[in-house]
Amino acid sequence: MDYGIETQCIYGNGEHFDGDRTGAVSFPIYQTATFAHPEVGRSTGYDYSRLQNPTRERLEQVVAALERGIDAMAFTSGMAAIAVLMELFRPGDHVIADADLYGGSVRLFNHINEKNGIAFDRVDCSGESVEGHIRENTRAIFIETPTNPMMHVIDIRRMAEIARRHDLLLIVDNTFLSPYFQKPLTLGADIVIHSGTKYLGGHNDTLAGFLVVSSVELSERLRFILKTTGSALSPFDSWLILRGIKTLPIRMERAQENAIAIVKYLQAEEKVRRVYYPGIEGTKEYELCRSQATGFGSMLTFEVESRECALRVLKQTKLIPFAESLGGVETLLTYPATQTHADVTEEDRIRTGVTDRILRLSVGIESVKDLIADLKQAFRRE
Ligand SMILES: *Cc1c(COP(=O)(O)O)cnc(C)c1O
Repeated sequence: MDYGIETQCIYGNGEHFDGDRTGAVSFPIYQTATFAHPEVGRSTGYDYSRLQNPTRERLEQVVAALERGIDAMAFTSGMAAIAVLMELFRPGDHVIADADLYGGSVRLFNHINEKNGIAFDRVDCSGESVEGHIRENTRAIFIETPTNPMMHVIDIRRMAEIARRHDLLLIVDNTFLSPYFQKPLTLGADIVIHSGTKYLGGHNDTLAGFLVVSSVELSERLRFILKTTGSALSPFDSWLILRGIKTLPIRMERAQENAIAIVKYLQAEEKVRRVYYPGIEGTKEYELCRSQATGFGSMLTFEVESRECALRVLKQTKLIPFAESLGGVETLLTYPATQTHADVTEEDRIRTGVTDRILRLSVGIESVKDLIADLKQAFRRE
């Protein structure tokens, strides 16, 4: 069915749930570890919840529909999804990873994947020539766009072309824009990652992760790793994320509207040196983001005049919590240098611009006048 994305967020590809005699409108939570078989050699299609569970399956169908994938897999967290993904590679393989990535992905690469014989080159995929870094053993390009926290925008179509030419996988972590604003598989990516904890769940209450794939072969390989290593999402958490996704479009729109208003305020705030947000007209990020996404999202980063000023703002907001994470209805203020990027080496942090004067805001759906008033008083109080 060719439903609009708002409808797909509620009904997936249009299959109303009809396997339940009660007609329940909300998809049931199948809180069961195992399923009885009618007889030897026959199965209902469900054997054991590590492999299949109806609630998780429903969620996976919705996410696959939103991202235009042929399959989606739901994991206990974004990092669990990425850890399974990296099992596609063998000792001796080489991966090109963008220079500005979620700190947890960097920690996984540096402390776990490298130990297992996978080599990485960190390349600024928004600027540098990526092709110059491709080796005989290169297997994949791994990017996020916009990047975290510096909000660089990477040309997904260009990365897909390079990947195709050299027979590499293009992997895109699409957490920041969500499929509501950006669908990397339609631009040529092979695998999309989500931290479902963020916009998909949307309420800062549940951890989840997704891999969405463009081919049957990738689906089979990754499902084998998932069932073997066992990090599939629980039925109850699957249901919470299903519920969150139903309001994804209106949350994304409202949060973006708030973010744009906050960007304007921050640009006029004298203690702010620079605001990083792809929706600022006249920047190259703006044009590129417009060419591959239908929105700019509600993540923004800003640089203040000094480290002391950053610490003061973090301490003095009253409404906005100082907390890690993003993508929920609550606006959160993050200090990347000591939080999300604490495990990135100082040298890498400074090189990518994540200094101790950088603050990151995940804008939620509160009244924007309250958010701006809170930031204003935090800047003014001594
Ligand atoms: C949070 C996040 C992750 C990790 O997801 P968890 O659900 O916290 O494990 C990966 N990528 C990005 C871009 C994120 O923001």
